Amino acid sequence: MSADLNAFITEERIESDADATGPLADATVAVKDNISTAGVTTTCGSEMLADYVPPYSATVVERLTDAGATIVGKANMDEFGMGTTTETSAFGPTRNPADPERVPGGSSGGSAAAVAAGEADIALGSDTGGSVRCPAAFCGVVGIKPTYGLVSRYGLIAYANSLEQIGPIAGTVEEAAAALSVIAGPDPNDGTTRDPTEIDGVDAGTDYAAAADGDVDGLTVGIPTELFDGADERVVETVEAAIADLQTQGAETTEISLPSVEHAVQAYYVIAMAEASSNLARFDGVRYGYRAESDGNWNEAFAETREAFGSEVKRRILLGTYALSAGYHDKYYEKAQDARAWVRQDFEDAFEAVDVIASPTMPVLPFELGESLDDPLRMYLADANTTPVNLANLPAISVPAGEADGLPVGLQLVGPKFDEETVIRAASAVE
Ligand code: GLN
Repeated sequence: MSADLNAFITEERIESDADATGPLADATVAVKDNISTAGVTTTCGSEMLADYVPPYSATVVERLTDAGATIVGKANMDEFGMGTTTETSAFGPTRNPADPERVPGGSSGGSAAAVAAGEADIALGSDTGGSVRCPAAFCGVVGIKPTYGLVSRYGLIAYANSLEQIGPIAGTVEEAAAALSVIAGPDPNDGTTRDPTEIDGVDAGTDYAAAADGDVDGLTVGIPTELFDGADERVVETVEAAIADLQTQGAETTEISLPSVEHAVQAYYVIAMAEASSNLARFDGVRYGYRAESDGNWNEAFAETREAFGSEVKRRILLGTYALSAGYHDKYYEKAQDARAWVRQDFEDAFEAVDVIASPTMPVLPFELGESLDDPLRMYLADANTTPVNLANLPAISVPAGEADGLPVGLQLVGPKFDEETVIRAASAVE
């Protein structure tokens, strides 16, 4: 594998069950390094877990190997999933196969780069605010963020539980859809998982690869002006050309408005940081993970141990703790929850009139390495189009729309809850 890209943190294999003849027989898979693999180091891209070897595998990993897949390694990522470029990894950045001077996106940058470079057929990422779709867009591959509750999070080391889902990345819509069919479905170990075929009022099937039939005749595609405003002109042109092509195949387009989404990034970061500050409290040097050699008392030893976190993670723990603290949580956390409810309602209203919603996945082209590192706000704002989807718990896909200045551009398609089939069908028509 290419050492230059740095797509993997650990290159250990987990073989499929020897006699497996499942839908992924012979497929190779890169697994993001925040997804637990029994006996194989799982670092979350952090010094804190540099030597952590989980005693069990995530449900998604079990399902992949049961379906005949071979895991080929643990993919590089932003530390604990916090980032948009894979540069906050304690193991060095991953490079973008389309242009090695640029970032692959994040936080699942190693996963997308591995697929784009042919180092794995399929990859798993996790998407809390865009971390599957952003790297898929930047690397020119397909990434699916499933409806919240479709895929088990058992064994996923949590960043922000109410927002995140594990999702597949692959070279084609059909391959990503086939991987989704394998990992989707209820899991007794994750009480938030649902069987979409048994939810009242939802008319869902689960043969996602069969849905990739390219048939968009009669489909109504909503175009939200808010998700195009402010995006790079080159990105907008490429995405509009891909949408025009869907029209020639019989899709209808209609302009829609999602007024709440201008508050989505702000609401997302308050909620994500609040949940992260609570989740990351467990890394205290006692039960597992790094422990500083300290002569100090408990408080000092705890503080020294937590020096193993990188600066982006520390920033988020501090801001998240602040947003939850007495006297401030009604000002920040509760306001963010109100905004979240508004975003959810806006999408629900929109889906009364349209089947899918199309926009650029990322409003920008891939950053140059180092370009956004000292400017966290700029990095956060790049999540403007992906974070609303997590706030509303909806399914979405990023599919290559074409290139601008030789760099990949992603088209994002969003659907109603548990209707991944329509999203996949529409994406499979994008050429
Ligand atoms: N870029 C976003 C963040 O840093 C999304 C990360 C993710 O989806 N894990 O929080």
